[in-house]
Amino acid sequence: MAKPFSKTLDLVSIVRQLWPFVRPYRTMIFGTLALTLVGSLAAQVNPLVLKYTVDHVDALIQLPDPMKEGLRLLTIISIILFTKEIVNIFIQFGQKFYGEKIRINVSNSLAQKAIRRILTYHMGFFAAPENQSGKLQTRIDRGVESLTRLVQNFFIDILPLFCNAILALVIMFMANVYVGLIAITILPAYFYVSARQAKKLQGVRRQLRGGRENKSNGLLNIIDSMTVIKSFVREDVEEKKQLVIQQQLTDDQLYTRRTNFTYDGVKSFIEQIGVVLIIILTAYLVLNHQISIGAIMLHIMLFNNVSAPIRQLHRIYDEVNDAFIYAEAFFQIIEDDEEIEQTGTHAVTEAEGTFEMKQVNFTYPNGTRALYDISLKIERGKTTALVGLSGAGKSTILNLLNKFYEPDSGAILLDGVNLNEYENASLRSEIGLVLQKNHIFKGTIEDNIRYGKIEATNEEIVTAARKAYLHDQIMELPMQYKSDAQLLSGGQQQRIAIARLFLKDPPIIFLDEPTASLDAIATEQIKNSLDAIKQNRTVVIISHSISQIVDADIIYVLKQGRLVESGKHEDLVKQEGVYKEIFDASARSLNIARIAQTLNA
Ligand code: ADP
Repeated sequence: MAKPFSKTLDLVSIVRQLWPFVRPYRTMIFGTLALTLVGSLAAQVNPLVLKYTVDHVDALIQLPDPMKEGLRLLTIISIILFTKEIVNIFIQFGQKFYGEKIRINVSNSLAQKAIRRILTYHMGFFAAPENQSGKLQTRIDRGVESLTRLVQNFFIDILPLFCNAILALVIMFMANVYVGLIAITILPAYFYVSARQAKKLQGVRRQLRGGRENKSNGLLNIIDSMTVIKSFVREDVEEKKQLVIQQQLTDDQLYTRRTNFTYDGVKSFIEQIGVVLIIILTAYLVLNHQISIGAIMLHIMLFNNVSAPIRQLHRIYDEVNDAFIYAEAFFQIIEDDEEIEQTGTHAVTEAEGTFEMKQVNFTYPNGTRALYDISLKIERGKTTALVGLSGAGKSTILNLLNKFYEPDSGAILLDGVNLNEYENASLRSEIGLVLQKNHIFKGTIEDNIRYGKIEATNEEIVTAARKAYLHDQIMELPMQYKSDAQLLSGGQQQRIAIARLFLKDPPIIFLDEPTASLDAIATEQIKNSLDAIKQNRTVVIISHSISQIVDADIIYVLKQGRLVESGKHEDLVKQEGVYKEIFDASARSLNIARIAQTLNA
């Protein structure tokens, strides 16, 4: 079970959890950091050169022929500035490119790790309401996004900017302590306003992102539901729903802008106070012969280096906060070992296929009690049918036999060995499962059939398709086996599932209402394919269609999670119990009497 989020995740533990993902790029990181340091040094060159220039020009204009010496000065500073800019091109490139490279790689490893983990989780994890696919996707996406942004902030934004600021401050202090003190006293005010700004915007940015997602999902939902919307004439309702989302989004956007513009204004003002104070102080010191005239320029430019990173503080503050919130949910997904599917070590080489359930009780993770004290036997090589009304627990039994879930109590044995002891992969390789509606992956028919046996040759695929009565239909399509499988009809998709089963060729087959959504002709054809595949295999079939269960070797009848009757069709009908009731209802719904009249005539 997912633990409730605690709010205690601090930067240290985020960095600790993030480290394994960043570690492979540590050389690159140290390289980037070195570049950062050189870059910060380079950023101080302009102020220093300007001071040097102003002071020298000031001295030169006292000379009778300032041009002669001036030319030499200009050459020197041009060379210095151009060299610095050329070096800067490489530094900037290296810093940005490697920073991005680290960011992109970390993002990929985080996403891949999440996928790898999720594939190992047991089915109960996915049945939990907080893990619905949409929510899970959002948690992973947001986690990856905000953690990646944290890495980016750290290596691309924060470090270079703050290195720069600290170096500039040090130079200011070295040049003149009083000016340094002014610069440093302005900073707390700046920090304070930035923190206020971040606080005011806290949550709004997140709300904005949510709003944008809702907006785009809204359009997708409308397009998906177009038939229903039009047939119920609900265009107005849908439009109003979107308008509400849009209105919220607009309000949030305007709020963010208003807040940002206001606070940015205040910050500029504070910065200007700093600039003015520095101008006044440096001018005073110049007049007092304590520093040279060039130092005015030096200090103003250095102060700009100090204040530039702090201007970004509110954004960084907000993003780091985001990382706190989403990182927790993300790491919970990838670190929760309790959710990993348990597996035994017993490998199946050739399953005989006799299942036995002994006093099995089972409750779904959401608390729904689905099975009560079920004991039954499924014999190898025979066909066992599970019958009962919807919700009786038939599919649940298949879920347990597939080891998708574990019973609360009782035991399930396959060939005398407890299911817990089997290695999951090896057990499931022995079982073929066909559902009422089988998943068809995006891709070609050929790829979808091949899912049954990844290494199958083209001939094997064609043979399987033939056995599933699908080959002739495929050959009539313009792209044949390369056609898009998701565009096939329900009956054709069902045949793909059966072709997969032929390719997989397992000794045990579970059929969960395989023909429930098909028309009469397709039902008959699929029944024929299934009859062919049933030979010499252990088959468990769930079906509402009496025609498919009357021939079963044994029928188990379930009612509200309990086993109420068992036996062959004829015996069960004689018992006048639940089976007889279902049988009679089926006969009536089929209007058997009338059909029999027609057939007799
Ligand atoms: P049947 O196959 O006989 O129609 P099921 O085995 O699907 O019935 O369902 C038995 C009971 O378990 C029902 O009450 C159903 O709502 C519940 N159930 C089935 N699947 C889940 C699930 N994934 N999570 C929670 N409850 C479930």
